[in-house]
Amino acid sequence: MINQHMHDLGAEPNKIRELFAYGLERKAQIGPENVYDYSIGNPSVPAPPQVLQQFSDQLAGDPVVVHEYTPSPGDAKVRQAIAGHIKDAFGIPATMGNIYVTSGASSAIDITFAAISNPGDEIIAISPYFPEYKTWANNAGCELIEVPARADDFQPDVAAIEAAITPKTSAIIINSPNNPVGTVYTRQSLEALADMLRAKEEELGHQIFLVADEPYREIVYGAEVPYVPSLYQDTIVCYSFSKSLSLPGERIGYIYVSDLIPNAGDVFTAVCGAGRALGYICAPVLLQRVIANCLDVPADVAAYEENREILTAMMDELGYEYVQPDGAFYLWVRALEPDAVAFSERAKDFELLLVPSDSFGAKGWVRLSYCISKDTILASHDAFAALKAAYE
Ligand code: PLP
Repeated sequence: MINQHMHDLGAEPNKIRELFAYGLERKAQIGPENVYDYSIGNPSVPAPPQVLQQFSDQLAGDPVVVHEYTPSPGDAKVRQAIAGHIKDAFGIPATMGNIYVTSGASSAIDITFAAISNPGDEIIAISPYFPEYKTWANNAGCELIEVPARADDFQPDVAAIEAAITPKTSAIIINSPNNPVGTVYTRQSLEALADMLRAKEEELGHQIFLVADEPYREIVYGAEVPYVPSLYQDTIVCYSFSKSLSLPGERIGYIYVSDLIPNAGDVFTAVCGAGRALGYICAPVLLQRVIANCLDVPADVAAYEENREILTAMMDELGYEYVQPDGAFYLWVRALEPDAVAFSERAKDFELLLVPSDSFGAKGWVRLSYCISKDTILASHDAFAALKAAYE
């Protein structure tokens, strides 16, 4: 008999994917230049040349070794390189024994949730949030508790998070630079969050983990991105190379169980168990070795930064309200009617594909992914103007 829960999950519509699929269909009908597809977060800049060089160097190596299994947490040299990178970049005494290489941030978070919680626990997410958090929390038998970000600046609302913590809270997941809003959490916000969590751990007598989901760490336009393990000891970092090195389909990332966690060894063993239970034999070996040699390669953010300037100037000119993004490649724009789903549908009449905020656990906004060509952004000006006029 099939599993009804999994069946329901498989049948559940994913608005982002639906819009993306609609866009492909529409582009085939009326030409790609006539569709303004702001739906999906696929990086639009190529992977840096050093990454491509690494692919060919690795493929030129021993023809058996290049395709071998690695130990489940990853190739020892790769884990060593990642730990060294964390130590050099952030001054945390990272050791390879606490690095688990994964297929991107998705599997990193899925594994982490399963490792640090028990069925019936609660995991807090700050809304709006990446939609799959709910799937992964449920997969660990947990309930995802949504706590809205502060309405004025989309920073974490520490008092509201504190009020949402119960004896069942196992973790809080944060994502900065943020998808979908583009906010970067300030040092002040993170310190306040850390202080509150330390007090709550004391009061409840158990650990509350901070899971730092960091696929956009390097996609930032001048703002500081504090390293969470240096602010709060019970932190687990879920990192991905999907966006920083433009490798989303290659599936590579890692979990870093902070060495500062008092029982880091046990947490890491639980991570290994969760990875095993979820069927991760090891992360793709070719990619493990590619990224190990590209850890210091800077992300190419110039194109995203230019797109951000063009798009925000366009929104200013046309009178749309939005949140100024300091990182990632998303713009959070106020829908022109309270129902963001209806607004997104209306936008389609002008060939604009905008993701309604309901997909991210929030009402009244749309997300624009500006990791697209500059020409598409420039060409969408009149469509945004017409959409605005339709509401006046
Ligand atoms: N977390 C956030 C906030 C994301 O935006 C994404 C992808 O868009 C992921 C996690 C998953 O990324 P990955 O490709 O590394 O699995």
